[in-house]
Amino acid sequence: MAEVSDVITFLGTAGARFVVTRQFLASGGAWLSLGDTQLLLDPGPGCLVQATKRKLDPSKLDAIILSHRHLDHCGDINIMIEAMTGGGMKKRGVVFAPADALNPDPVILSYLQEKPEKVEILSEGGHYKVDDIYFETPIKHHHPVETYGFVFRTPRHTFSWITDTRYFDSLPHYYTGDLLIINVVRLNPGAPVDHLSLPEAKQIIEEIKPSAAILTHFGMTMWRAKPWELARKLTDETGISVIAARDGMRFDLAKLG
Ligand SMILES: [Zn+2]
Repeated sequence: MAEVSDVITFLGTAGARFVVTRQFLASGGAWLSLGDTQLLLDPGPGCLVQATKRKLDPSKLDAIILSHRHLDHCGDINIMIEAMTGGGMKKRGVVFAPADALNPDPVILSYLQEKPEKVEILSEGGHYKVDDIYFETPIKHHHPVETYGFVFRTPRHTFSWITDTRYFDSLPHYYTGDLLIINVVRLNPGAPVDHLSLPEAKQIIEEIKPSAAILTHFGMTMWRAKPWELARKLTDETGISVIAARDGMRFDLAKLG
């Protein structure tokens, strides 16, 4: 019998518009294979290509989760809904998205909103469930559109994904787990201010103290500074294993011990 595992595949590590529009890095979001449940998070531009290239079958998806309506997160959400629903022929799967992704200027086309079994609206303090996977959206992020991060709980692990946000004092308080994934767009704090920078990520990691942290969603300043070297430095400074995500990287949570 195959061992039950929780594996995250990074279908992209690009954040912010220049790295995305030039495809210096891929921008397909992440595929969460949690036991028998297949979740797709933030299917940005190229998600379908990145997923199929890595033999991940979108018709097997159980849910698609969108943190917010910015294009680098939702560029491929329509085609991924079509793929999840067998070309729109099978009513299956759930889509989770903030209300402003659906109204008044929907990033999910209205005819496709009818295709999944259900569309669930994410809101602050929300608790959601797909099979035996639970997830929460504990706090509304500080970002120009309605944005949520996630705490995922599988029967085996708890992990958090802090998506796009400006830093705010109580932010680390809302996230927990063995593994912490953080969208780190900027090397230094400053404009555009509604994203996390490396020193802020360090502060969050030191406060939450996960077993391991993964940095992803790199903007130009982060990419130029070689994220893998920055991660090594953070590991030395914090004593916590910090990893820079790479396009296509598979992270098995069993590694957390
Ligand atoms: Zn954003």
